[in-house]
Amino acid sequence: MIVAPVGGKLPPLRDVIARYGLNASKALGQNFLFDGQLLARIAAVPGDIHDAEVLEVGPGPGGLTRALLAAGARVTAIERDRRCIPALAELAAAYPDRLRVIEGDALDVDAPSLFEGRPHIVSNLPYNVGTALLVGWLTAAWQPWWQSATLMFQKEVADRIVASANDDAYGRLAVLSQWRSSARIAMPVHRSAFTPPPKVMSAVVHIVPGDAPADVDVRVIERITAAAFGQRRKMLRQSLKGVAGALAALERIGIDATRRAETVSVAEFVTLAREVGRQ
Ligand code: SAM
Repeated sequence: MIVAPVGGKLPPLRDVIARYGLNASKALGQNFLFDGQLLARIAAVPGDIHDAEVLEVGPGPGGLTRALLAAGARVTAIERDRRCIPALAELAAAYPDRLRVIEGDALDVDAPSLFEGRPHIVSNLPYNVGTALLVGWLTAAWQPWWQSATLMFQKEVADRIVASANDDAYGRLAVLSQWRSSARIAMPVHRSAFTPPPKVMSAVVHIVPGDAPADVDVRVIERITAAAFGQRRKMLRQSLKGVAGALAALERIGIDATRRAETVSVAEFVTLAREVGRQ
């Protein structure tokens, strides 16, 4: 369902950028999206968000924010670039009581405290900030405070999130993203869709938290994957040496210690973490 007012009453994004002098800042990883159809497709990734709470990190001049509002969401947006705040205030005025803008660094803001329910997260962020935030969200208390995450990443990072064992991109981020969530690439996004265009292709990833496997502590998963993938080309018997109880656990659950981390499936890491946690 679409809620008024949309599109027509709002000035074109390029005019907003010119009026508020929002030249893209490299330091803030600013690559803006203007294509309304593409933005609407991204806003549709979480499903029906009419009247749902959405956290958007890094709204910039507000292109994706407009699409989220047009889809009927109630948006809380955290933006670090002070220059964008007046443009976002204008958007908030066009959607009374639907858009709350918070000026700040998303890495410092206590996002869960902003919501009573569980928001969807939808965001087009610089990839380094996005990865740091995602790891924080994935290692939070479970069931997490968020309902789903729809995130733009450079394609190489998106591949690392959804990779399976034996893929080149498989590593710690894949295990953290998949051991109690489902993660998929919702759509590739060509570099030419951005202004200015980044050097590499991007993709939107959709992550939905699931049930946590019983008796597995996230800290143990973190410890094991950090050690195993810290030396990904080494055999497990070498890379897991420093994790108390890991080598004995491998033997008990029948995982060959001469294997390398990149061949160990997400399910096997879960079994290993459970066994290590038992001791
Ligand atoms: N959402 C807009 C779009 O899709 O056109 C802008 C995307 S741009 C890639 C990233 C945005 O994140 C910029 O507006 C930038 O200022 C903001 N940003 C960068 N680092 C941030 C941080 N640590 N916290 C909050 N916002 C940040």
